Amino acid sequence: MGGEGRRHSRQPSFKMAGKQKQRDSLFNHRIDVSGESVLFNAFTGNMVCVPGGLTNVMDFNFDQRRRLAQLGFLVDSTHEDEAMSIVNTLVTHSRRMYLIFTVATSCDLKCSYCFENRTRRSIMSAETLDLSLRWLEKQFAKKRFSDLDVIIFGGEPLLAPDRLMSLLNGLANIREKHDICKGAILLTTNALIGNSSLFKQLCKLGVTQVQVSFDGDASVTNARRKSHKVTDVYHETLSRLPMLAELSELTIKLNFTPETVKSIPMFMDDLSRISARKEKNFRIKPEPIVRYRPYGVEMINLKEEFGSNDPRLAESFDLICRLAEERNIEVDLSAVFNTPCMAFRGSSYLLEPDGSLRSCISAFGMDSFSLGNVRGGSDHSGQSLALSRRVRDLKGCIEGRCAFLPMCGGGCPYEKELATGKKNGILCRRDYFISALPIFVGSAWRTAKHKLFFL
Ligand code: SF4
Ligand code: SF4
Repeated sequence: MGGEGRRHSRQPSFKMAGKQKQRDSLFNHRIDVSGESVLFNAFTGNMVCVPGGLTNVMDFNFDQRRRLAQLGFLVDSTHEDEAMSIVNTLVTHSRRMYLIFTVATSCDLKCSYCFENRTRRSIMSAETLDLSLRWLEKQFAKKRFSDLDVIIFGGEPLLAPDRLMSLLNGLANIREKHDICKGAILLTTNALIGNSSLFKQLCKLGVTQVQVSFDGDASVTNARRKSHKVTDVYHETLSRLPMLAELSELTIKLNFTPETVKSIPMFMDDLSRISARKEKNFRIKPEPIVRYRPYGVEMINLKEEFGSNDPRLAESFDLICRLAEERNIEVDLSAVFNTPCMAFRGSSYLLEPDGSLRSCISAFGMDSFSLGNVRGGSDHSGQSLALSRRVRDLKGCIEGRCAFLPMCGGGCPYEKELATGKKNGILCRRDYFISALPIFVGSAWRTAKHKLFFL
C-alpha cells in the first residue's frame, strides 16, 4: 500500500564544479511517449523531452547541463555513492508523521475481497480514543515530528460519528498546541451514511480530502459491495459525489481485477455525467487487486487477481489512463508503484480500534509489525533491527545498479509476509516495473500542465 507516495518534489543539491566528473544518474529512464523521447528520473520524478537520437546527456551545452544537474539527471558522485544516498533517504527517520487512524473496523458493507476480513470488527472506545490522542500528543511534545498527515480509515468511520468528531477536535488541539503545520486529513468512507450538514461539519473540523471506493460499473459494484439497507449501492454512492466534491478534494478509488477492467468504460461514462466533473473537483485513483505470488509459479485465480509481476497489470493501467484522458478526468497514479516502504522509518503508524500500533499501514492484526500500544507507549526496538537488516538486504540491488531503487527500496515486507510467511528479505517486482514505467511516464507526460523541452 504505502501512502507517502509523492516522488515529485525531491531535488538534488546542485554542484557544478565538483571533483567527480559529471555523468548520467543511475536512475534516468528514457521513455518514448507518442514519438517524443522523454527522460525521467526515478528519484526526483522530473521529466524532460530530449532529442531522440541523443544518447548521452553529456552532449548538451553548458547551460542545459547545468539545468539537467539541477533536475537530478546529471550527478557527480560515484555509482555506489548515488545508490547509497537513496538507501539512506529511504531509511532515515522522517519528521513528518503519517498516521492511519482507525476509528472503526466495523462496516455496513460486506465486500468479499476486504483485507480486514481477517480481523475482528469493532469501534474504538471513548477511553482508547482519549489514550490515543494522549499518545499522539506525547510524540509531538518529544519533538520527534514537526508535521502530521492523517488518514481516517475503516471499516466505515461514519459508523462512529461521535468518535470521529472527538478525534478531529483532538487533532486540532494538538496541532495548535505544538504549532504543527496544517497537514492533510483524509477521510475514507463508503459515502452511504451522513448528510451534507455532517460532511460540512467534518470539513470545518479539519477534513481536507474524502476518498470513496467503487469496483467498476453498476453491475460489478453492486455485486461486490453488498449492503443490508441499500439495494443499489452504486447509484446511491454516485448520487452523493457532487456534494462531496463541493465540500472537499474528492478521490474516487477504483478497485479493479482482470475480470472487471472491461466494466470501466461504462463507469467512466457515468462519472463524466456528474456535474462536479466540469469543475475538475475529483480524481480517479485506480488500484488493482493483486495477489503477491510469483506469476506462473503458484496458481492464482486469473479472473479475480493479478500476480505481482503480471504483464496484464501494466496493460490495465494503460487502458484506464487512456479512458480517463479521453474523458478529461484527472488520474491519481500513486498506486501504479507502491511507495518505498514506510515501515522502517519510525514515522508511519497504523492505529487500530483497540489501541494497537503497527509500523505498516496495511498490517491489521499482524504481530510482526507491532510497535506496541497507546496504553504502554510505542516500542521501536524491533524496527531498528529490521532497518539494519533491510540495508544489508539491499546490497544486491546496489551492486546490480538497479535503476528502480528509489521507487522500490527492496519491495514491501507486508506483501512478502503474505506471500512467504516471512517479512524479511527483498521482494523484487522488477519485471512489473519495466512494463509499468512507460505507462506511468506516458500518462504523466501527456497530461502535464507544464512541459520542459531540451532541443
Ligand atoms: S510493509 Fe511497507 S510498503 Fe508494504 S504496505 Fe506496509 S508500509 Fe507499505
Ligand atoms: S528489489 Fe528488484 S526492483 Fe527493487 S531495487 Fe532491488 S533489484 Fe530493483
